[in-house]
Formats: sequence, C-alpha cells, structure tokens
Amino acid sequence: MKILLRNNDLNEALLGSSNVGFVPTMGSLHKGHISLVKKSLIYCSKTIVSIFVNPTQFNNKDDYKKYPRNIKKDLKILKKLKVNFVYVPNKKQIYKTKNKIKIHLSKKDKILCAKYRKGHFEGVIDVMTRLTNIVKPSKIFMGEKDFQQIFLVKRYIENNFRSKVIICKTIRDKNKLALSSRNLLLDKKSLIEASKISRDLISFKKRLFKKKITKKLILIKKNELEKLYDVDIEYLEIRNKKNLQLTNKIKNSKIFVGYYLKNIRLIDNF
Ligand code: AMP
Repeated sequence: MKILLRNNDLNEALLGSSNVGFVPTMGSLHKGHISLVKKSLIYCSKTIVSIFVNPTQFNNKDDYKKYPRNIKKDLKILKKLKVNFVYVPNKKQIYKTKNKIKIHLSKKDKILCAKYRKGHFEGVIDVMTRLTNIVKPSKIFMGEKDFQQIFLVKRYIENNFRSKVIICKTIRDKNKLALSSRNLLLDKKSLIEASKISRDLISFKKRLFKKKITKKLILIKKNELEKLYDVDIEYLEIRNKKNLQLTNKIKNSKIFVGYYLKNIRLIDNF
C-alpha cells in the first residue's frame, strides 16, 4: 500500500491505470467505510482511498475541530484490506487551484441537511469535484447513509466527469445504529438512545405501509421521540427516494432524520 501526500505523487502512481476505484473518506474508519473499500477492491483494478477532513463542509468551527481523527489506525485498517493507494492530502494540495465547476444549490435542493447546515453541501460538492479531478477514477463508492449527499454529488460528478458514483448500502451495528465516525463522540447513554431511535424509526416505517401519511402523524412521532429521549430533532420527514420530494406514500420513500444527542449531530434514513 502506497501512501500519497501530494497530487504529483498521486498522478505518477496512477499513471496508466484504468478502472480505478475511489473511496473518499474523512477517516476514523469503521465497517461502513470498509464495506465501500471491499466493493471497490472487487469491482476495480486499483483502489485508492482518500482521508481528508474537509474544512469547507463544516458550518461550525468547533465541529471541525472535534471531528474524530485516527490516521494511524486508519492506515493499519487499509493496509490489512490490501488497498493499493491511500491519498492523505493537506488543505493546500486540495485547494491550490481554482475549481472550474460552478456550484449552486437551487431552492429545491435546500431541504433536509442543506436547510440546517448552511454551505455544507456546497463544501462537499466542491471537495468531491476537486478530488475527482485529481484522482480521475472510473468509479466512486459512496454510502447511502448520507443519502442527500450522494443524491447531490452523483448529479454533479456524473454531469461533469466520466466517473460513475456507485451507491452502497448503509452498514449498521447489531443494535441497528448506522455506523458513523461521529458515534465515537457519543457517551454510552447517547449511544443506547441513538440505537433506540433507529429501531423505533425502523418499526415506525413498517407500520406506515398500512397508513396514509399525514403531517400530523409525523409530528406525533417527532414529539414522542423528543419526550422519550434526550434528543433535539432537526427534521423528521418522508421523501421520495428518486427526487427527494415530500410525499404521503411510504412506497418508494424513505424516512429522513437529523437530530442532536447532547451536542452531537447524527443523520440517518430508513
Ligand atoms: P465520511 O468519512 O463520513 O465522510 O464517509 C465517507 C463515506 O463513507 C461516505 O460515502 C459515507 O456515505 C460512507 N459511509 C459512512 N457511514 C457509512 C455506513 N454506516 N455505511 C455505509 N457507508 C457509510
């Protein structure tokens, strides 16, 4: 496994390679990330994983500072998986040139996390288009856990590059909590509550197949969760999987949730 710190080294290392699989991450790797890497190793001739905590996608400086970083452990995991390359750039490597791609979220896009984290997806799309320009992969593996992220990034990447974005399913722990690097910031009580919220929403979804979804029904669920747990729910919405429009049918839809447990913000979809 080769560790690449500079874009020039990366260009040299990947020269002449085709069918390159790319897994962009912010590190603190868990089994969710590992599942993306394993997919890339299966479907691609070379696999490159990036580890870069991108400052421009954090709408809160404190959140950026306390984002968990475990580079040594990450490299050990990736080496064991037999990844070909790990790209660990600094800010200068990523941001030294101007991004030619214009990033603009329309009013229709400013929903869910985009509504509550101002500038977040502009930062995500910016860094993803920069990374794609540097790595030039055939396939980019991303997780459904961040559904709105994949929805927006896929559109930008596939409109501007020849790379394909491959959607990978969410990996959960045995208590149904979606794995996330941010889970490392939760104390024991919050971890238990987060799993309970996941299980609650999974069974809520099952019950919705027999019901007509109304705003009132969702509001009742939101209030119930806030009463049961020490949680502040930013949004709890049911939206169509294909276009992210609000819907009153559970078929072809997903429940989207964004919430704070103490000061830690978690998102999920079911
Ligand atoms: P992050 O390091 O949080 O930026 O995530 C890097 C990639 O891993 C993104 O494409 C995420 O959607 C994906 N990912 C994060 N958590 C999971 C999970 N539990 N299951 C599958 N993919 C995930």
